[in-house]
Amino acid sequence: MEPEQDRSPRLLCFGAHPDDCEIKSGGLAALWTRAGGQARFVALTDGSAGHHELAGEPLVRRRRAEAAAGARAAGADSVILDNTDGMLMPTLENRFRVIREIRLFAPDVIVCPRTSDYHPDHRYTGVLVQDACYLLKVPNIVPLVPVPDRDPVVLFMDDRFTRPEPLRPDVVVSIDPVLEAKLAAVRAHESQVLEWLPWIGGYADEMPGDRAGRQAYANQRVAAAAREVAGRYRAALVARYGAEAGASVQHAEGFEVSEYGAPLTDAASATLFPF
Ligand SMILES: [Zn+2]
Repeated sequence: MEPEQDRSPRLLCFGAHPDDCEIKSGGLAALWTRAGGQARFVALTDGSAGHHELAGEPLVRRRRAEAAAGARAAGADSVILDNTDGMLMPTLENRFRVIREIRLFAPDVIVCPRTSDYHPDHRYTGVLVQDACYLLKVPNIVPLVPVPDRDPVVLFMDDRFTRPEPLRPDVVVSIDPVLEAKLAAVRAHESQVLEWLPWIGGYADEMPGDRAGRQAYANQRVAAAAREVAGRYRAALVARYGAEAGASVQHAEGFEVSEYGAPLTDAASATLFPF
């Protein structure tokens, strides 16, 4: 197989679960695709642990459809690998699969979780992507899939963990222009935002009874989280957009540049993130 050859900028987001990319980088993907780039969301597990009433193949099928709709709302496409949710391991086989996904899509920017996280699937997704980042340039590793000529910048998704270090907000973007797309992308994961997350998060009793009310409630939670990110990274928003515009950003997503990927120079930043 040859890597795809056209030169539009490409964003490849890796999540452990079928909704992770939408939640952490749905706004970035929407900005990216509206600027003319291509985006893909890859989930390393099948989502089969993410429900309290459903399980097995019916849940996997439902989450696959939700992920396709979620990615579409952000202008992206969706790939779901068949690792069992809750059981992801950083095996050689998975490392090779990640290398293959990266080479075939030939991204300019990769997004993945950090390796400090409460969820083992998130941690191991971070490990697998970071392990792939050097080896993807080594032709003798996964030799049947050629090495693309792009050396991607690697970004860590935002999180609130403080040990060993809080996330450094190297790239913080206003998602105000694409907020509706981000909300739609996350909301597409109905099994999660309307059912599982309220149950496991202990706020199911706060949810309205009707579907429209529940969707509105889910929207409010996603928007509130994006407002919290904007507040937490206000200084980075001001540095990026200027004092007045930066101060008025309401919703944001933040990312840290990994030192295992290509460096994000000022010139590369201007080219890759022109929004
Ligand atoms: Zn997750």
